[in-house]
Amino acid sequence: MTTKYIFVTGGVTSSLGKGIIAASLARLLKARGFKVTNQKLDPYINIDPGTLNPYEHGECYVTEDGAETDLDLGHYERFTGVPTSQANNVTTGRIYKHVIEKERHGDYLGATVQVIPHITNEIKDRILALGNTGKYEFVITEIGGTVGDIESYPFVEAVRQLKWSLGRDCCVIHLTYIPYLAAAGELKTKPTQHSVKALQQQGVQPDIIVCRTEKPLTRSVREKIGLFCNMQSDCVIEDGDVTTIYEVPLKMRDEKLDVQVLRKLDVPVTNEIDLSKWEAFVYKLNNPEKEVSVGLVGKYVELQDAYKSISEAFVHAGAQLRCKVKVRYIHSEYLNEENIEEKLAGLTGILVAPGFGTRGIEGKILAVRYARERKIPFLGICLGMQCAVVEFARNVLGYEDAHSVEIAPTTDHPVINMMEEQKAISNMGGTMRLGAYPCRLEKDSLAYKIYGTDEISERHRHRYEFNSQYLEEFQKAGMKATGFNPNTNLVEIVEIPSHPFFIGAQFHPEYKSTVIHPHPLFVGFVDAAMKYKKS
Ligand code: GLN
Repeated sequence: MTTKYIFVTGGVTSSLGKGIIAASLARLLKARGFKVTNQKLDPYINIDPGTLNPYEHGECYVTEDGAETDLDLGHYERFTGVPTSQANNVTTGRIYKHVIEKERHGDYLGATVQVIPHITNEIKDRILALGNTGKYEFVITEIGGTVGDIESYPFVEAVRQLKWSLGRDCCVIHLTYIPYLAAAGELKTKPTQHSVKALQQQGVQPDIIVCRTEKPLTRSVREKIGLFCNMQSDCVIEDGDVTTIYEVPLKMRDEKLDVQVLRKLDVPVTNEIDLSKWEAFVYKLNNPEKEVSVGLVGKYVELQDAYKSISEAFVHAGAQLRCKVKVRYIHSEYLNEENIEEKLAGLTGILVAPGFGTRGIEGKILAVRYARERKIPFLGICLGMQCAVVEFARNVLGYEDAHSVEIAPTTDHPVINMMEEQKAISNMGGTMRLGAYPCRLEKDSLAYKIYGTDEISERHRHRYEFNSQYLEEFQKAGMKATGFNPNTNLVEIVEIPSHPFFIGAQFHPEYKSTVIHPHPLFVGFVDAAMKYKKS
């Protein structure tokens, strides 16, 4: 079979869930035995979202190969279990940078370099490159933004050209919104008609329309959309409200999204679809037997997308344990000695989040102390682990001024130090210690017990590290380093063995948690939270 290319565009409004639809379709095709990958094209000019404030764009997701990417790649991996890479996320900035570098290098041999064909060729190359790896039968490419945005024109133009050249190997799904006007008692199709017109004006006829709607689509609504948008009404797919995003693949199966896609792409619909594991997961998720409340202490809590992978990892772990994990978001900036009792009351687990910079840091350190002293299950991730080290240095080792040099560059007790290879770096973008690194676990550790192996690999995104000069002192006082990078000896995990569950990880376990394989550290943490509640 030749590689098939599927594009997902969006109209009417943002936040309709293009990423979830693209990921769900990938799941369905995978469940039919196909090899699938998802790609995201982002029309903004940043080279990648690594330099973006999470308030702007939510979490920055990190791939195995160390790409800092859009959070939709997290959905893709969580839904499909297929690792993504730098090639799976391309921005306008990356495209232009490459074209301009080629121009400076003289590669265009004197030609006038233009949006069409040079920019669009570069976009097409990035899409086709995934197919050309020979690893995938389907490449599903989501175009960020909304059709009609000025910045997404070159991407839609690239889709138009590919649709023309690939013929039956290409199809376009347009995700749109059908508002319900309560006063009229009606679902309204006009915004969809306009949005499809905008796409058609750019030369692209969608093959399938997926309609976000709060009410079921009637037959006549489907027919109307089909009539105005040039398609059979069975290509108009209902995407109704669900209680969890993980129900979307099942909904899309019931609506036959995958079947319509296969028909459009001239692929015989022969093989069975096996979603049994997925269904079992959704069943467990929707039928919990227990409940715990865990606190997520961070400084971006107004925007929950900022901690997307963490909250999803809790969903996966909770489902596995048949336990509803209620996440209480706690603003570290407003956490202090006076209100900590009240703010953390009733929690049976405390997670201190990753992050950068000074804002909210003392609140995070205070939350660690609370969890350590009261023996509440604790998981610190990246900056959260560094806070655990600082807290221990201050309150157990007695170094009152202990800190990370990120926050206090002149402290006399830099228990978290800048990594050696970071010291000469001045550029901010793409320069941290990024991506997957191996880690060796001490055999007598909690981490080893949880992972069930002494060799793991986890993803990183940081500049600072545990300062090994203090290692002996920490170990003597009861905080143990239990995970090390086998090549550099960097400390990757700290634990307090006298505490029932106290783990700080320099890496980000949340990036590797998926529906089918919940992350062991999250499962262990939720399990500990359940035990704490019982006791
Ligand atoms: N700011 C810290 C560092 O760069 C932690 C980073 C993070 O939490 N991802 O080391």
